Amino acid sequence: MKSTVNEGLYRRARGVIPGGVNSPVRAFGSVGGTPAFIRSAKGAWITDSDGNEYADLVGSWGPAILGHAHPEVVAAVQEAATRGLSFGAPTEAEVELAELIRSRFAVDGLAPIERVRLLSTGTEATMTAIRLARGATGRSLLVKFAGHYHGHSDGLLAEAGSGLATQAMPGSAGVTPEVAAQTIVLPYNDPVAVETLFAARGDEIAAVIVESAAANMGVVPPLPGFNAALGRLAHEHGALLIVDEVLTGFRAGPAGYWGLEADYSPDLVTFGKVVGGGLPVAALAGRAELMDLLAPLGPVYQAGTLSGNPVAVAAGLTTLRLADADVYEALDRTARAVAEGVSAALSAEGVPHTVQWAGTLFSFAFADRAPLDYATVKQQRQEAYPALFHAFLDAGVHLPPSVFEAWFVSAAHDERAIGRILEAAPAAAKAAAAA
Ligand code: PMP
Repeated sequence: MKSTVNEGLYRRARGVIPGGVNSPVRAFGSVGGTPAFIRSAKGAWITDSDGNEYADLVGSWGPAILGHAHPEVVAAVQEAATRGLSFGAPTEAEVELAELIRSRFAVDGLAPIERVRLLSTGTEATMTAIRLARGATGRSLLVKFAGHYHGHSDGLLAEAGSGLATQAMPGSAGVTPEVAAQTIVLPYNDPVAVETLFAARGDEIAAVIVESAAANMGVVPPLPGFNAALGRLAHEHGALLIVDEVLTGFRAGPAGYWGLEADYSPDLVTFGKVVGGGLPVAALAGRAELMDLLAPLGPVYQAGTLSGNPVAVAAGLTTLRLADADVYEALDRTARAVAEGVSAALSAEGVPHTVQWAGTLFSFAFADRAPLDYATVKQQRQEAYPALFHAFLDAGVHLPPSVFEAWFVSAAHDERAIGRILEAAPAAAKAAAAA
């Protein structure tokens, strides 16, 4: 087989970077083959180091709602960079981004966010949310759901989705038993399990953390009323509800997935991805009485040399400002066109599947019935996905390299990009049927 630039880079990368990648899901671990080493990206398209051009359905795993290298975002970043890369001191743009996150995350008179702290990664946001919940309640236990991913801090890796699901890892080595014992993992979409736990240990629980719609085991939306039940149970027992919108925030809908339900009020909300527009910005937000427990006002410590970095904030602020109603309409239209086209191709080949939706986010599950939790997600015919993935890749479409990830469209997916995907679908569905 002809050796390619990608293959050479992958060999070189593996000699210096563990597994050749700086984040595990990039390694094509469950689909096999050589990852495309990306040279450049523009709009809906990415180009690898061999010069292959792909219609991209990864979108940097979420941030790229406007498409790659949107000219106004790039101009804002360039302009910010000329004024200095990092100051370690506050800036006006940080205030603007915090205000915009607060005003955008409000629906029908519900406005759960009063204060916003900017940080650099989703992992930091959820880690800090948990410390804050423990500091506020004086309690230790954390409740999370199987298949939900909240970043890689020690207490959150038990039965987590995303890369751990892809690698079939139940948790991570290096987490002490003492830390692991502070996290209780429950099945998703099972309010009775939550109720039973609260009845037994309610006064020990600091917080429940939940993805507002699960999207790291493929997309698995909450059953109607599930998130509201979490809020009710937590509050009845003096615990907090942390809603993780790192992936869904300002992507699933204009006010995240929460805004599509808006039938409960989270105490703390975490953001990432879109709020950084492709550069490292994340946020922890919530009611003032809780958020003001953070240093320098309160006793819960959190800090960051590059928190609120001016270049990153310029990307996030410009992205969020440009993400208007037209953008969400475009995301929705494109998502439906891609999902329906691929679904029709799979049906034509007799491949059992369901399309799972959370606002503008979707993924496929290779099963007759929609999975509701991590146990049912894992029962699907997973072997269909590598075949589908590689047939699409050969035809110039870059899907997420794992069945446990959402498909990310952008407002820059035009007719040409959607056309590329839909033209590739019949052969990809045939490959999935044969797998
Ligand atoms: N929470 C959720 C819901 C996520 O999807 C992710 C990342 N995919 C994180 C937290 C962690 O964010 P980061 O990778 O920026 O640390």
